[in-house]
Amino acid sequence: YEKMTGNKNGKDELAQMERMFNEMMEQLEQNYRKQEQFVSNASHELKTPLTVIESYSKLLTRRGFDNREVVDEALTAVITETSRMKEMITQMLDLAKSNEAQAFEFTEVNLNQLLEGVVKPLRQAYGREIYIEAEGQAIVETDGKFVKQLLFILLDNARKYSEREIIASINERENDVEVTVKDYGKGIPQKDLPHIFDRFYRVDSDRSRKTGGTGLGLSIAKEIADGLGATLTIESVVGMGTVIRVFIPKKREGSQ
Ligand code: ADP
Repeated sequence: YEKMTGNKNGKDELAQMERMFNEMMEQLEQNYRKQEQFVSNASHELKTPLTVIESYSKLLTRRGFDNREVVDEALTAVITETSRMKEMITQMLDLAKSNEAQAFEFTEVNLNQLLEGVVKPLRQAYGREIYIEAEGQAIVETDGKFVKQLLFILLDNARKYSEREIIASINERENDVEVTVKDYGKGIPQKDLPHIFDRFYRVDSDRSRKTGGTGLGLSIAKEIADGLGATLTIESVVGMGTVIRVFIPKKREGSQ
């Protein structure tokens, strides 16, 4: 080895290579396990609405022909569960996309304009106030499309889990820009906070069908943040509300 590389510290170098190799293998194994877990969770989550659809369809064939009420109930359930599956599949595709580094295209983005563009139609759609607090114009090198998607996930959660106004703010810092989404809703119990970015994770009380939701939103947000080189933090107090912050670097990682 020493002859080949002219390196007297061949042994050290070999040891270092071995360490690197082991770390890489461990990372690969971890990714594989994560993938396996995802497939198993996804199958389970998709199976639930399918089972409901199946049982209501059977009910329709048995008792639907002369009973209008049964038809209404069954078809409503079938439509609800189908939409749910559709949403879940769309989100799974989003998740896969945000996992691909090459899906990200970095350009100069004015975050104030972008936020305004996301919030304006939502005020209408949510029928509630979304305030924007910002000074100046924050320009960053990022992927605007993904930032929009990320902000939409956070704002939509604020809508789903709170009833009052929502506050979005932009705060320019030295090397990054902090974008905050704040609500005064139900909050998240401390014990759930460490898992909140996991795929399919939902607070127990939100697992009920009524609020919709798949437990994938925040995991997509996290994946997008990783792709953008951004950081996500969450603070929440039950009964008080939730604050999620995204720190978006001004310059793309590795660029000047
Ligand atoms: P979901 O589709 O269920 O909203 P998310 O991954 O976006 O999935 O969120 C995971 C869970 O975190 C939600 O089911 C909910 O229990 C909780 N959560 C997320 N955002 C908020 C919020 N702003 N306020 C209270 N709970 C929240």
